[in-house]
Amino acid sequence: MKITEEEKKQIEERFESIFDYCKGCKDKDNEERIRKAFRLAYKAHDGVRRRSGEPYIIHPVEVAIIAAKEIGLGAKSVISALLHDVVEDTDYTLEDISNLFGEKIANIIDGLTKIPEEVFDGQSMQAENFRKTLLTLSDDVRVILIKLADRLHNMRTLESMPARKQYKIASETSYLYAPLAHRLGLYQIKTELEDLSFKYTEPVAYKEINEKLKITEQERSSFVEEFAKPIREKLKTYDFDFEITGRTKSVYSIWKKMQKQGIKFEEVYDIFAVRIVFQVEIPEREKMLCWNIYTVIAEIYSPIKSRLRDWITTPKSNGYESLHTTVMGNNGKHIEVQIRSNRMNEIAEKGYAAHWKYKSDKSGESELDIWINKIQDLLKNQNTNALDFLDDIKASLYVDEVYVFDSKGNTRTFPKGSTVLDFAYAIHTDLAESAYGAKINHGVKIEPLNYKLKNGDKVEILRSSQVQFKPEWENFVVTSKAKSDIRKMRKKSRQSSIHEGIRKLEEALDSMGFVNNSSITKKLLEAYEVQTKDDLYLKIFEQGADVEFLRKSIDRKRKNKDVNYWELQFSNKKPEINVKEIFDINEALSEDSYKIAPCCNPIPGDAVLGLIELDNRVSVHKTTCKEAEGFMSRYGDRIVSIKWKTQKKKSFLASVELHGRDRQGVLHDVTRVIYMDLNVNMRAMSINALDGVFIGHIDFYVHDTEDLNDLISKLEQIKSIRQVRRV
Ligand code: MN
Repeated sequence: MKITEEEKKQIEERFESIFDYCKGCKDKDNEERIRKAFRLAYKAHDGVRRRSGEPYIIHPVEVAIIAAKEIGLGAKSVISALLHDVVEDTDYTLEDISNLFGEKIANIIDGLTKIPEEVFDGQSMQAENFRKTLLTLSDDVRVILIKLADRLHNMRTLESMPARKQYKIASETSYLYAPLAHRLGLYQIKTELEDLSFKYTEPVAYKEINEKLKITEQERSSFVEEFAKPIREKLKTYDFDFEITGRTKSVYSIWKKMQKQGIKFEEVYDIFAVRIVFQVEIPEREKMLCWNIYTVIAEIYSPIKSRLRDWITTPKSNGYESLHTTVMGNNGKHIEVQIRSNRMNEIAEKGYAAHWKYKSDKSGESELDIWINKIQDLLKNQNTNALDFLDDIKASLYVDEVYVFDSKGNTRTFPKGSTVLDFAYAIHTDLAESAYGAKINHGVKIEPLNYKLKNGDKVEILRSSQVQFKPEWENFVVTSKAKSDIRKMRKKSRQSSIHEGIRKLEEALDSMGFVNNSSITKKLLEAYEVQTKDDLYLKIFEQGADVEFLRKSIDRKRKNKDVNYWELQFSNKKPEINVKEIFDINEALSEDSYKIAPCCNPIPGDAVLGLIELDNRVSVHKTTCKEAEGFMSRYGDRIVSIKWKTQKKKSFLASVELHGRDRQGVLHDVTRVIYMDLNVNMRAMSINALDGVFIGHIDFYVHDTEDLNDLISKLEQIKSIRQVRRV
C-alpha cells in the first residue's frame, strides 16, 4: 500500500528530528550523506509495511533516532541505522552500499545483516547470528550499539507480533540483549528492554505493578519533595548548581525483588531513590564535590554506614560512576541517595558512547576497554562453536564483581565466583596450566585452584612442572577466557584419544576381515551404548578393541530400525508440530505428546508456552522460566503457543513455602486446612521449627492456579503464619 500524504508528513518530521539530537549530523557533508541514506532507505522499503500497518521506513528512522538521542551516537551510526535493513530485506547489496557510502558503512551494515537461512547448516541459527553481530565488534563497537537500538524499537512495537514470536524475541532480549546493554553501560536501554520483555512474558504481573506504581506516584513525589527540601536549602548556600529528582525502580526490578524475597509490592522499601546531579566546571574537582555533598546530607539525615557504595574511586567495570549512600528518612524508612556530576550522569545513562566522548583526553585502559578486548580475544578463537560462544559471552556479561591484586600490586576485576584458576588463566595460559594452588594475602596456607576470590585478596600463583592438565578444571572456572582455554586443551587431548580409538578399531576390524562402514558403526554405537561416533572411539580407546565383542555386536541384528536419538540430534530437523497453530492441551490429547517441565512446574492458569523438544514432544514451561529462556534464545523456531484449560480429572504438582512463628498446634492447623480442601491432594510435607521460627514446605496436587491461590489465602489466615508463597 502506498504511503499516504499524512504518513509522509509524519515520516519527514521524525526524520528531521534526528538533527536536533545529533550535533555532528548538522555538519554540511554529514547532513548530505544522512539525507542520501534516508532517500535510499525510503525508496528501498517503498510499498512495504510492518505487521503493525506502519510504512516500513518508520522503523529505520526510529532506530536512527534512538542511536542519536538515547545512545548519543554520531553521523556514521545514523547513516548505518537508516540503512540497517536495506541489504537484508531489499534488492540492494553490500556492494551497492559500499559504492554509495564507503567501506566503513558497508562493514557496519554487514554486521547488522542476518545470515540467510538457506546457507545455514549449524545447530542454532540464533546463536550463529548473534556471533556474527559480535564478530564485527572487533572492528566497530557501533554495530552492537545500533543492534541494541534496533532491538529496542522492535521491542517497543512487539504488540503486533503473534504470541510465539513475542516469546522468542522477548526471551532473547532478556537473555542476551539486556545484559549486553548493561555491560556496555547503557543503563536506560537495559532497563527498558527488561521491562518490555517482562511485559510480554508475565503480562498480568506487569500490569499489576504498573498500576500500583501509578496509584502511588503522587505520594512518592510529595515525599521526595519534602525529603529534598532541607538538602536543597543547604546546597544552595554553598552555591552548588544541581538538580534533585526521585528515581523510581523499574517494574521488572520491583518484581524481581518481590520474587526473591517473597514479599508484596507494598513491602518493597526501596521502590525509589533520590538522585542529585550537579554541574561541575573543573573536572578535577568532581570527586571532591561528591564527598562534599555527601557530608551535607549526612548532617541532615543519618547515613547507614554499611550501605555506602563508592563507585567514584573505583568505577564499575561497565564505566558506571556514582556515590550512593542510604540514609534514615524522617519517617524512619531507608532512602538511597545517589550523588553524581553531570558527566557521571551522562555516562550512567548513555554508557559506552558517552564514556568514549569523555575519554579522549585520558590515557590508560578503562575496565570497559579491557572487557571489549576480552570479547575480541574470544572472537578470534575460531574453535568454539556458536553455542559455546553464546555461553561464554553470557558468562562475560556477569554483573557482580570482585577486585583482587596480582603480585605486582595491580588491581584486577573478576566476575563474582571466580577462582584462583580463573586468575591464573587471566594472567597467562601457560601459568594456569602449570598452577597447583595459590598463596592468598601472603598467608602460609596454600589455597587450592578452586579457592573463590574475595574482594581485596592479594593472589600469588604457585606453579610446578609436575602439574597435569585435567578436563575437570572446567567445573571450577567462571571466566570465559579460562573456559575457552580449557575447552581447547580438552579438545586437543580428546582429539588424540579419538584418533587412537579409530586406529585400534580399524586394526581389529581388519584382523576380522571387515572394513569399517556406516552400518557397522551403527551396530557398534548400539552395542557400546553411546550416541556419537566420537564417544564410540573414545570408549574403544579406553577399553581396547575386544575382537570377540566386536564380532558379536556386528553379527547381531539392529534392535531398533527407527531413527536413533543421535541421528535426530544431529540432523537439525524441523519440528513435526506446526508452530503456527496453537497446541491445545485437552482431555483428548495423548499424554505422550507433551510433558510438564520439571524446572518450573507450571499448572493451568499460569502463563505458559511450549517448546518442541528433539523427540517432538512439547514441554510446557512458564513464560518466565529461566531454562526455557535459554532454550528459546537458541531454538526460537521451536516455540509453540499453548491453550491449557483446567481439566476436572487432572491435577498437577505445585509447592508452597510457609513462614511464621512457631506455636503449639500450628502444624495441626496447616494440615487441617489442606485436608478440608476438596480440590487439593497433599503429596509431601516437611517442617522446620527452630528458635520459634516455623518454616514449612508442602507439595500437593491442584487443578489450576485458582485452586492454588485459594489454598494460599486460606493458609495465610492461620494464626501466626506470616507468609505463604509458591515456590
Ligand atoms: Mn531492524
